[in-house]
Amino acid sequence: MTLAVEAGMTLQVARQHAAAAGLSLPILLGSEASAQIGGVVATNAGGSNVLRFGMARSRLLGLEVVLADGRIWKGLRSLAKDNAGYSLSQIFAGSEGTLGVITAAAFQLTPLPRQTVTVLAGTQDIGAALRAFRRLRSGSAETMVAAEYMSRAAIKVSSSHRFNPLAAALSEQDGVLFEWATTSDTADFEPVILEALVVALDQGDLIDPIVAKNEAERLAIWSLRDTIGPGQGDAGYSVKNDVSVPVSQLVELVERGKKAVLEIAPMARPIVYGHLGDGNLHVNFSPAAKADNLRLQEVEADIVETLADVVDALGGSFSAEHGIGQSKRHMLAQRRPGVEIDMMRHIKAALDPAGILNPGKVL
Ligand SMILES: Cc1cc2nc3c(=O)[nH]c(=O)nc-3n(C[C@H](O)[C@H](O)[C@H](O)COP(=O)(O)OP(=O)(O)OC[C@H]3O[C@@H](n4cnc5c(N)ncnc54)[C@H](O)[C@@H]3O)c2cc1C
Repeated sequence: MTLAVEAGMTLQVARQHAAAAGLSLPILLGSEASAQIGGVVATNAGGSNVLRFGMARSRLLGLEVVLADGRIWKGLRSLAKDNAGYSLSQIFAGSEGTLGVITAAAFQLTPLPRQTVTVLAGTQDIGAALRAFRRLRSGSAETMVAAEYMSRAAIKVSSSHRFNPLAAALSEQDGVLFEWATTSDTADFEPVILEALVVALDQGDLIDPIVAKNEAERLAIWSLRDTIGPGQGDAGYSVKNDVSVPVSQLVELVERGKKAVLEIAPMARPIVYGHLGDGNLHVNFSPAAKADNLRLQEVEADIVETLADVVDALGGSFSAEHGIGQSKRHMLAQRRPGVEIDMMRHIKAALDPAGILNPGKVL
């Protein structure tokens, strides 16, 4: 159950090849039609199934890479077990093109799911969403594949970009999206999940859940979530933060993060959403009014640093899945221990001593 493909293949086509064999490459990105396998590995892409299957590096078994000195490392092994020395493939995962040019990758696949249950529900706030997540996951950790949170502001921007009747059904609440999938065809899969949902409803943590009855309804639920990004684009200048904290600190992240930012940027409107189950939220900000566009842009750097201070205090990461690139280089240098930066510099110097690969990125 492995797949080896060239780096220029799109994720979508790689997933189609796996599906044709009854298998799944469980890396789900909104950009799968354009994202190439080389980019997926080089960014260690995450997506909406990280909760169950991990980031791209978790599926990675081997790589072929052209090194800075022109040699080709043929490490395209498809072995579930390979403890022969350092795990070199993992060094290239998330390296953002700074250590070598990936030309092919081998992945561990999983069986295609036979049953999927997708639920959208209202929820009072991030605290209630988290309680529902914990309750539901405690009985279904092996099958829960996604747990997404959408603040009501995020739902609004999504629905104004592309009308979605589900937004109205949430009636001005925050929203949560849960998905479960199983490779088994057991008849009680959905009933067991629905029972757990009823308990979460009784506790008051979920409101008016909608269970997708078919693939079209499932896609409509996901569309509400996936349209938040483009929707925020319509709402003026966007200050984007892709941060993670331990799941237990999510409520603090949202409460303290919003408070700290609004103190220095009262014209900012929080648009919070993301991967609840991974402790990874987009704590984004749009202008409260059109006239605030420029002022928000002017304080962008302060907002990003202020939020990163809160994230650091909670033991989190200022870059959960979007990487470092050029814009966050200074943050990496300032916010990670010197010993960590030293190790990264040594790895970079060993693999690319002349600094010819993606200069000016990451370090
Ligand atoms: C709508 C949308 C949704 C997205 N959703 C997610 C998400 O949920 N989670 C997530 O993690 N990301 C997401 N992304 C970001 C992005 O799609 C992914 O990170 C993707 O994997 C990048 O692939 P790409 O081929 O476009 O790479 P590019 O953008 O072309 O490159 C990204 C980086 O990888 C390097 N690189 C590219 N190819 C190679 C190679 N062959 N060898 C070495 N380095 C290489 C580049 O130098 C660059 O530094 C999303 C993007 C969009 C537009």
